[in-house]
Amino acid sequence: MKLKVFSRLLAMVAALAAVAANAAPGSVTLVPSDGARFLVHQRFDIRVEGQGTGPYSAKLWIDGHRATFTSGTQGTTTTDGISASGWAGFNQRGSSLTQKGWHTLTAELSDATGTTTTTSRIQVIDPFDAGKGERKLTKNIVIMLGDGMGVAHRTAARLVRYGVNAGNPNGRLEMEQFPGTGLVSTHSLNSIITDSAPGMACYTTGNHAFNGQEGVYPAHVTNPFFAPRVEYLAEYLHRTKGTSLGLVSSADLEDATPAANAVHTANRNNGTGIVDQYLDESDPSNSKAYGTGLRVLLGGGRRWFLPSTTLYSSRTAGTGYAGLPADLITGWNLPATPAGQGSPTRDLIAGFKGTGFAYASSNTELNALVGGQAPEKLLGLFGYGNMNVALDKIAKRRGVLPADASTFAVDDYMAPDQPMLDEMAEAAFKVLSRNHDGFVLMIEGAHIDKQSHLMDADRAIGETLEFDRAVGVARRWADKLGDTTVLVLADHECSGFSLIGALSLSGGISALKSLPSDSASLSPSVIPARQNAVGTYDFAGFPSYQILADGYPATMDIDNKVLVGFGANSDRYESWLSKPTPVIDSLLPSAFKGSGGILGQKGYATIPELRSIDKDGFFIRGHLNGEGQAVHTAADIPVSAYSTGNKAWLRFIGSQRNTDVFFKLMKAALGGDAPADENPEEVE
Ligand SMILES: [Zn+2]
Repeated sequence: MKLKVFSRLLAMVAALAAVAANAAPGSVTLVPSDGARFLVHQRFDIRVEGQGTGPYSAKLWIDGHRATFTSGTQGTTTTDGISASGWAGFNQRGSSLTQKGWHTLTAELSDATGTTTTTSRIQVIDPFDAGKGERKLTKNIVIMLGDGMGVAHRTAARLVRYGVNAGNPNGRLEMEQFPGTGLVSTHSLNSIITDSAPGMACYTTGNHAFNGQEGVYPAHVTNPFFAPRVEYLAEYLHRTKGTSLGLVSSADLEDATPAANAVHTANRNNGTGIVDQYLDESDPSNSKAYGTGLRVLLGGGRRWFLPSTTLYSSRTAGTGYAGLPADLITGWNLPATPAGQGSPTRDLIAGFKGTGFAYASSNTELNALVGGQAPEKLLGLFGYGNMNVALDKIAKRRGVLPADASTFAVDDYMAPDQPMLDEMAEAAFKVLSRNHDGFVLMIEGAHIDKQSHLMDADRAIGETLEFDRAVGVARRWADKLGDTTVLVLADHECSGFSLIGALSLSGGISALKSLPSDSASLSPSVIPARQNAVGTYDFAGFPSYQILADGYPATMDIDNKVLVGFGANSDRYESWLSKPTPVIDSLLPSAFKGSGGILGQKGYATIPELRSIDKDGFFIRGHLNGEGQAVHTAADIPVSAYSTGNKAWLRFIGSQRNTDVFFKLMKAALGGDAPADENPEEVE
């Protein structure tokens, strides 16, 4: 009994001690976080936040000198007025540092119970540091982003495009002809596995971000567009050199990769605000006081540009932004009240036209606009959501339905006349090259990733072929314009894409189609016939595809086709046959999606497991629970670099962090590199 009382006393003492230890705000964080890196003069927001018992006050020091906050009222519970419920926040917007080297940020957050102190050490890098010898600046930067493209995607595209003879590739992709190739690690601020938002943003800000976030640091704020910002490459170069920005993607333009060049948001899915910010921070009058200098925006996603009163519009107030914080506007020199921001009924196409953009909604219209003298600014929206993939666009152009398909996918997507990625790239270069102060251009092959997620190997390979044609366009423009650096890289690998062999079955594809169903063979002791059709090692041989004049295979279903496995897979059936229709994309108007939507009613599958062509395939139990599709992996990705005018490409050889790419590009643009020989760099 006595022992029981004593132990109860001990428990009370322990509880009191825990309360005492908690007396002071908890969960206190300071951003930029420890280890963050910036260029001299690169803008970023500082924020300290935490949870406790109000009223709150805070202090900030930079290298021991007391600094002021631009928002957050001392001695209040509401603090900056934009912090999430239960959180206190104090901000310094639009900061920058001029001295290279390490700096220490220290912040105190106090509440009714005490004070918590936090510090972070950040590094400032001087890109103007020219080093030895003559230097020549990179004027134009082109980032070719093959989303989800790992080494195996590149190899697969080469195998299909050129084939192999006696152990030697019969040709090399455009990207493989770049002189400098290296490896890049792809982790984000909160995981070894990144998604496309921080995956792209680390190249364009030099800073890591949380998954799902682009151009911002993590923060508990009431609107994702209020999160603390870090300046983009395009913003820095527009502000300091007057460059223009071009964004080209085969995805819906709200998607993470294009947005992570120009839009600051902690939620990659808030499409209304994302597309609004493209225009609102484009600096249409070319004041160079703020923004990106956006002059080219080509891709899908018309649904976000149409007023909410229009059929297939996706605009909502909840995915927009309204009334950015006053100190954010002041700190970043933004226009006070852009017209129509946050309004679901905003007609954004009219908004773009109003600032001088020419507009195309089809490939025919695009050709008409850039056939002669290109316009100064160009908006092209070629689908309601994601554009279609290369093989589906090519099928329509050829007028040949894919095997087992009864309609063309581009017709079902209500976008029958879409440009190929290389055609959009050509148009972008025509427009941007009119700016003699240079440009930044990002071109994304978005569906390499999306089709890898869906474990549609043939469409993923077709996407890589289309992307490589766009790389060829970029290389030719780099030669023509001079002083241009082109990078080909990915934000991460997707699906654990691996080349496991080739179809090895007497009678080939037609025999494959007539095999009895394997779908019920779930016992490990039963070998599915389609497993026996996989030729490994010697039995894979040398697949040989017929390439037509348009640059794409006549069919992906050749008798000894390349077979692909997915190491980061979900449940599915595998038939090895080309899929007649794509799985329904995630980025589409809601009317198109789901089994009862426009596409579902035409027989399109909602997830890979339900794909009809695979119904006789053997069941593969995936590694993942509840995903429905394959996922990104943590594998390093290859980067290939090419430059004219200087040897900036040399910087990318070897292994590097993803954030290093930003600093290497900016050193090339601001500090320069050794000049190239008079002739373009020879590869052989
Ligand atoms: Zn992805």
